[in-house]
Amino acid sequence: MIKVEHLNKSYGKAAVLHDISTTVKRGEVVAIIGPSGSGKSTFLRCLNLLETPTSGSIAIDGTVLTDPNTDMGQVRQRIGMVFQHFHLFPHMTVIDNITFAPTRVKGLSKEEARAKGLKLLERVGLADKADVYPSKLSGGQKQRVAIARSLAMDPDIMLFDEPTSALDPEMVKEVLAVIRDLASSGMTMLIVTHEMKFAREASDTIYFLDGGRLIERADPETFFASPQSERAARFLEQVL
Ligand code: ADP
Ligand code: MG
Repeated sequence: MIKVEHLNKSYGKAAVLHDISTTVKRGEVVAIIGPSGSGKSTFLRCLNLLETPTSGSIAIDGTVLTDPNTDMGQVRQRIGMVFQHFHLFPHMTVIDNITFAPTRVKGLSKEEARAKGLKLLERVGLADKADVYPSKLSGGQKQRVAIARSLAMDPDIMLFDEPTSALDPEMVKEVLAVIRDLASSGMTMLIVTHEMKFAREASDTIYFLDGGRLIERADPETFFASPQSERAARFLEQVL
């Protein structure tokens, strides 16, 4: 579903991603781990074109994102992204946050969008919060709204950049439960996370990035039991 070939990204003279090549299958759940500054966010941002690769190619279902003739708006619609800091619209109620893009971009009627939004809120366990403002929600609830908002666009791929890093510990579980549910529904996902237990249990594949390089790509059992590189072994020693 996703094919990345020789992806490089530099900011000015600073090379941040080095020659990353990989493929992600439909329905695959990838957990991306690695030290701070290793390029995890930049990699995700290249996948949904928040950043333009310096060289290399990215294709999604055969559509080459790096081709100047590709309709980026359409590609972006297919990729949902959830950030560490939820980025909800503070002046809109929860349901309006969710229905905003589907009505504007997808042309859904207000009624259709609301009905769909309510279903999604139910799915993330927040059916009773439709008409409140984000300021009335806990961090975990805000993040679940952000996930529901992304899902309202019917994405084929979901990208998560440290979705639980800004949350108090007691709220991490409720958000991870929603992501696990999505994983088991067959959504293709890439998740940058520091939650090693979650990465181990919920992903099909672990990517370990260090210094802008994808230095290990393995199934979780193999990765956690016997990392192949010394760098990954050292990283795991520090975080486990
Ligand atoms: P991670 O998410 O793994 O912590 P990032 O992808 O955020 O890593 O950053 C990788 C490197 O790129 C870091 O050295 C960071 O300082 C640099 N970087 C990230 N974004 C920018 C930017 N917009 N301009 C310049 N340098 C950046
Ligand atoms: Mg990051």
